[in-house]
Amino acid sequence: MSTVSLSLDEILNLAKKTLLANGCDEETASILAELIMKAERDGSLSHGLFRLPAYISGLKSGKINGKGRPEIKKISGCVIKVLGNNCLAPMVLSKGLPELIEAAKENGVAVLAINNSHHMAAMWPETEIVAEAGLVAFACTSYKPAVAPAGAIKPLFGTNPISFAWPRPGKTPVVFDMATASMAMGEVQVAKREGHKVPLGTGLTKKGKETTDPAEIVDGGVLLPFGGYKGSGIAMMVELLAGALIGDNFSFETAAKDNNDGGPPSGGEFILAISPEKVSGSRWEAHASELFNKMKSLDGVRLPGERRHKNRLNKGPRNINEELVNKIKSLR
Ligand code: NDP
Repeated sequence: MSTVSLSLDEILNLAKKTLLANGCDEETASILAELIMKAERDGSLSHGLFRLPAYISGLKSGKINGKGRPEIKKISGCVIKVLGNNCLAPMVLSKGLPELIEAAKENGVAVLAINNSHHMAAMWPETEIVAEAGLVAFACTSYKPAVAPAGAIKPLFGTNPISFAWPRPGKTPVVFDMATASMAMGEVQVAKREGHKVPLGTGLTKKGKETTDPAEIVDGGVLLPFGGYKGSGIAMMVELLAGALIGDNFSFETAAKDNNDGGPPSGGEFILAISPEKVSGSRWEAHASELFNKMKSLDGVRLPGERRHKNRLNKGPRNINEELVNKIKSLR
């Protein structure tokens, strides 16, 4: 794979100019470009520049409103709804998260129920923001069917990511952020593009046979949930939390309404924030540190989120797939 070296500023500017040229206003373009740059910076490669062409498809077809603004509706002290109005999720989150944080600090717990926004990013950015404000965070969203429930060979669940973040005042939060599919579809697409095999158990061919060829999964096959029926149960939970609970679509409903332009479809996101100070009292931080220290004292263990936070310390340029950069430049 040939690559080009781009500084973090160059990555941000490339993304921002491309978004501005395709119907985003200044604020939306800045928010999404920054998120894309942060994904490249942290090594969240399946959700950095790689996703930009898909965002552009959604903007070009008119499905995504690059100039829209979400609306906040306070249902109660602890329940905040955000009407996404077809905005990109990062724009919606930029308005909804401060409200969620304020409500959880005041009440001990709060829920952000996001409707009708377009999410195609990693989920750690939102849970990290909540954790950096001193709160425990959980977020999930569904997508379009790509994952077969345990026992099936046809997709019904989305890749349905969940993210959890634990605050550590003065330190980076502990964050895990994972697709409930055995592998995120973005990673399978990257493996296809770069000619790598994927582990057995990642997915099935269109005939329902196990395969290690990412192309057979991406082109008409199906992903499997992680951990068999256990992951399948968690994927179902995401469908319910980010669908029925918040009044938005299940993945199969999302697919039925989508125009299939390749861009992120309209859907919901569920975010929960909890104040450990209010629920536990002042010892929560020292108590959690005991667990993290025990974990780290074991050979071979690292905390989730550490890889990204280590990458983040490198302020230097990143090597980006040259074909991808040329494709993005052709979209301006
Ligand atoms: P990974 O399997 O790469 O990682 C999952 C989590 O496990 C991360 O928090 C990671 O931390 C942690 N981890 C990995 N290895 C270890 C280890 N050895 N010890 C401890 N922790 C570890 O993620 P996925 O491929 O499942 O998902 C990739 C991204 O795709 C996610 O950001 C997800 O939000 C996104 N996604 C988004 C969708 C959408 O519709 N918006 C749909 C599906 C996925 P670390 O980062 O530090 O490595």
